[in-house]
Amino acid sequence: MIAAVCALPLLISSLHAAGGFYGDPPDATHPWAIHDMNRPQPPRVEPGTFSSQEKPGIPPSDAVVLFDGTEATVSNWVSDKNPGEPTKWVVKEGTLQCVPGSGFVRSKEEFADCQLHVEWSAPSEVHGDGQGRGNSGVFLMGQVEVQVLDNYNNPTYADGFAGSVYGVNPPMANALHKPGEWQVYDIAFRRPIYKDGQLVDPGYLTVFCNGVLLQDHTPLEGGGGHKTRKKDRPFPEKGPLKLQDHGNPVRYRNIWIRQLPKRAIDGGDTSVMSAEATAAKRAGIASAIRGNAAKLEGKEKLLSLLESLCYANDGGAKTQATRMVDTFAAEIKATPTDKIESKKADVVQLNNILQYLAKFQIAEFAAAGGLQQIVTAHGWDKKK
Ligand code: MG
Repeated sequence: MIAAVCALPLLISSLHAAGGFYGDPPDATHPWAIHDMNRPQPPRVEPGTFSSQEKPGIPPSDAVVLFDGTEATVSNWVSDKNPGEPTKWVVKEGTLQCVPGSGFVRSKEEFADCQLHVEWSAPSEVHGDGQGRGNSGVFLMGQVEVQVLDNYNNPTYADGFAGSVYGVNPPMANALHKPGEWQVYDIAFRRPIYKDGQLVDPGYLTVFCNGVLLQDHTPLEGGGGHKTRKKDRPFPEKGPLKLQDHGNPVRYRNIWIRQLPKRAIDGGDTSVMSAEATAAKRAGIASAIRGNAAKLEGKEKLLSLLESLCYANDGGAKTQATRMVDTFAAEIKATPTDKIESKKADVVQLNNILQYLAKFQIAEFAAAGGLQQIVTAHGWDKKK
């Protein structure tokens, strides 16, 4: 990303693509400028395919596949009662089926913030009612249940409905297919964050069922429980995914999970960051640009030094840049009138940058006034 700065053709028009001098600069809680090309590109993920009733889809390329219909992937799971033992749940026709009485299954691998895809199917032969019909559950970090229940034509208490955050919040809709058909849950999970024993983020669940939004960033409230209202509480750093044995032979297929980058509140660099984290990030970006500037010459070097000042001030970089700006201004001043037009692009470019740095109180340069005068005198600031 930083390398792109030196690779840019140094024309005025290219400034719009450069890291600095374009949008509002970094500030106390944003380490990057608006439209900042130094901000890392999103990592490439090959998307998967959607499932049909007949056939499960393909997971995206960066997913951890927990169950893909094969016996081999059952080894990703253990018995929750006896974690040293394999699960007694069985693989049938490419599905992982709950064996009533065998207990929950839990993933060997543990996860924190994640995107989870899981498909389930309640028995087509309907037995029981209320919470007794096709009941299972998806337990994020083993702590909080997204309810799995055959509610196709089966009322129950709303906060225990399919797609509820069990005991916390009902789903916004009943978007279930018939029992025996495949239901698709797509879940985004964020664990609670505590600092110094204080809750700073309650954690959230977002749930889609068959493409319909059921939970929209629902606060976890500590995760619900049966008959018991929990309070906000710390979760571990990571935990296993668990699937519930509630006495019904519910089937699962196509289970995959993507670990998500940390939130700003959890030490990540997405969204609005703390002042301390922002300052550290800005210092790192500035240092990388200066490291790159040290390998450059002439104008490329100057532009990189000036760009670095947008992220963090540095006496050495400012002094070096000032010397180079002064030298450039002196050269322009000494340029004969009939040759000055050939310097237009460079003068306008540097003038724009110095104006930007002054406007946002990033840095002042004594030579800026003289460059601005030249630009104005030749009408180079007028749009044609
Ligand atoms: Mg359940």
